[in-house]
Amino acid sequence: MLEPFSALELSPEGAWKQVALQFRQGQEEEWTLYREGVPFEELGRGLVPLQVEACGICATDLARKNLPFRLPQVIGHEVLAKDSHGNRVVVEINASHRARGLDEDCPYCKAGDRGGLHRHCPERQVLGIDRLPGGFGPWILAPKNALFAVPETLPPDTAVLCEPFAAALHAVDSIPDKHGKRLAVLGLGRLGLLSIAALAARRRDSGEEFEIVGLGRRKRPMDLALELGADSVQQVEGEGENLGDGLFELVLDTTGSPKAFRTALRIASGQVHLKSTHGLPTAGLRNLTPLVVDELGVQPYRDTLPPEVHTVVWLAPGQPPSSWKQQCRVIRGEAPLSDLMAVLSLPGPDGVPGADLVVVDRSSNIDQAIRPIRGRELSLLRPGGSILLRKNEAEKSSLYRAVDDRGIRLGSSRCGNFEEALALLVGDPQLQFLGEILVDHHFFAGQLEEAFAAASSSACIKAVIRQQ
Ligand SMILES: [Zn+2]
Ligand SMILES: [Zn+2]
Repeated sequence: MLEPFSALELSPEGAWKQVALQFRQGQEEEWTLYREGVPFEELGRGLVPLQVEACGICATDLARKNLPFRLPQVIGHEVLAKDSHGNRVVVEINASHRARGLDEDCPYCKAGDRGGLHRHCPERQVLGIDRLPGGFGPWILAPKNALFAVPETLPPDTAVLCEPFAAALHAVDSIPDKHGKRLAVLGLGRLGLLSIAALAARRRDSGEEFEIVGLGRRKRPMDLALELGADSVQQVEGEGENLGDGLFELVLDTTGSPKAFRTALRIASGQVHLKSTHGLPTAGLRNLTPLVVDELGVQPYRDTLPPEVHTVVWLAPGQPPSSWKQQCRVIRGEAPLSDLMAVLSLPGPDGVPGADLVVVDRSSNIDQAIRPIRGRELSLLRPGGSILLRKNEAEKSSLYRAVDDRGIRLGSSRCGNFEEALALLVGDPQLQFLGEILVDHHFFAGQLEEAFAAASSSACIKAVIRQQ
């Protein structure tokens, strides 16, 4: 049992309130959060208490009251903390069975590192986002296998960027075949600048050669992009009318803006990678946010199947190629949704359910593949799966047209791998000072209101909260 502490929690209305909290551990080593002296949240087993040193504010925190997780909560997930031995650690935010060290029969957690499937564990809590109290309070409970030691030589403002840097690096690493290409980062906010830093670090590290172009609106972030390794920057005017069609082979969209996503589709000639979301209908799609949460892709249809495909759902008219039925399980979309969901709940070879591919011929079926039942966090696809679009001239949505007419592929990603991110932050001398370059506002934990106001303004690149 830990001593009670006080922290500022975020209310459902978006206000800050000081509350008394306590983490108490039961007989089975399960933790319960007590709020104002009464049990408030069951947090489960496999967690260790950490004393928070600092925690960054990101776009997810600014949008937190619009996300579908319970409030009030102490939020904050970009945490630098100390363990019970006084060692400095950063914390991976997904409290899955695997991260908690629990030997549960969960296919996502047992799938190993392949595709980071454990980060999609359906029973996960998420530090500072979903149930688990976050790093804007003085104490957190962290999944015991999700702690990564930070060398004392790494400056704290750089260490605190490990979580968002890991996410940026994961986006960069999930873009295939960068060699020899022109790559644009659209949006030079926190995530955009971290993506530039991650691209430049990977280029130094891998020996791959590609061109990095930063696309932003304001001078200071554009200067920072150059400092972080962009080869050039271009100013975006209006909705990007000054940028030619198909100018970049790859576009990493970090803007979180529906209009900018349409621009990204237009200025790309090969792939658009989507990194942030806003919950708004975009480019003819309702479910773009869950697409990123599940790290799904959208591509043009091809007759040839990749070798690792096990299950395909065919929602388009006509017949799938006969060879597909020999290679994998093909489920036709005429089946009632309940049958479809039942078949898809059968595990694939690694135990994880869901289709590898869904074939569609209209935008509404893209939405259906991503979230077939409104209000339920269920997909026809397994995490990392792809939706293939059949030719359909009648479909007018900008996403459909970009994929169908010009062969654009859409990829997406969410969290990242801490181990790899930390190894780069520690090992690449140019990244050691990432914090010094990007963190331009510091606040104490009692100043959250002020800190959030600053973090929402365009004058702020990155704000970090320090515990007193
Ligand atoms: Zn974040
Ligand atoms: Zn699990």
